[in-house]
Amino acid sequence: MEPKQQIAQLKAELSSPKRVLITTHQGPDGDAMGSSLAFYQFLKKMGHEVTVVTPNDYPEFLNWLPHNDVVVNYMRQKVLAEDLIANAEYIFHLDYNQLRRSADMTHSLADATAVRVMIDHHPEPNLTVKYRFSETTASSTCELLLTMMQEWDNDQIDSDIATCIYTGIMTDTGCFSFPNATARSFTAASALLSYGIDRTMIYDRIYDNFSAQRMRLMGYCLNEKMEVFPEYRTALISLNLEEQHRYGFVAGDSEGFVNLPLSIKGIRFTAFFLEKEDKVKISFRSKGNFSTNDFARKHFKGGGHLNASGGETKISLDAAVNQFRELLPAYQNTLNAL
Ligand code: 5GP
Ligand code: MN
Repeated sequence: MEPKQQIAQLKAELSSPKRVLITTHQGPDGDAMGSSLAFYQFLKKMGHEVTVVTPNDYPEFLNWLPHNDVVVNYMRQKVLAEDLIANAEYIFHLDYNQLRRSADMTHSLADATAVRVMIDHHPEPNLTVKYRFSETTASSTCELLLTMMQEWDNDQIDSDIATCIYTGIMTDTGCFSFPNATARSFTAASALLSYGIDRTMIYDRIYDNFSAQRMRLMGYCLNEKMEVFPEYRTALISLNLEEQHRYGFVAGDSEGFVNLPLSIKGIRFTAFFLEKEDKVKISFRSKGNFSTNDFARKHFKGGGHLNASGGETKISLDAAVNQFRELLPAYQNTLNAL
């Protein structure tokens, strides 16, 4: 079905108040929280009973978003979250397309009887839903959601909704610098400005909101932890739990670290390894045509986009970094052909 037809049908189904649950991927980022809270407000304005449930914590630099106080964190409020999931009439899955990215919520979500809707911009959707809004050419879920809300009822979009949407587009496009920022993204930004957002405030709250400890950790990563492989045009950074502890690490502190080595002349592929209690989380970034998505899928049970993806592994941090180093020679020609 065409997106416009789907919106018309959804709109008709939601013409009387419903119990709606909005959820997103684990380790929610600016796009995940921006789209969830924007849509929360939009549906709330239409008289629905709406809740936002995240699988786990998200960075502090997102907790100023309008209506952040309504968010239910499954990890911390499991009983309440389970109840909301079981009783929802509609579940919206935002900014992800594989149920297992819901982490500990996966089983409850799978068991839910609600009508499901997916709104996402990642490739290769793998989620059974009634309504699927999936556009991989959209820079962000927020960009796609903006188009949907404009089609649905443009008059409902206000500056708080626009603030959430701008946050998602800005963070997913690296402040409009990555190749995923298209004419549509700039058109969206222009429309959002006209709804009265304060874009310098948004930038400041996201990017100039870190602790001194986090800046020192960044310095430590660059000085002591960055490995550069010029022959593969690749660089990596890894952080173990002891190092995180030493620098008072909190969720979100390593946000953006994976991008840092891309500033080095000639570097086209970067990886960042973060040791967690039960796994190692890995982020990949690239410039040009090197598909970090394929790389993440093939070797680290992950996925994402061409130039930005992630994955995870249960092997040790050292073993994961070693595995990565050992994979590089097989990609030497590809990385140097770019
Ligand atoms: P980040 O490195 O910022 O955590 O994630 C970058 C991109 O890769 C995001 O679009 C995110 O959705 C995707 N991504 C990160 N980790 C995973 C993962 O473990 N599995 C999948 N499928 N995608 C991931
Ligand atoms: Mn996104």
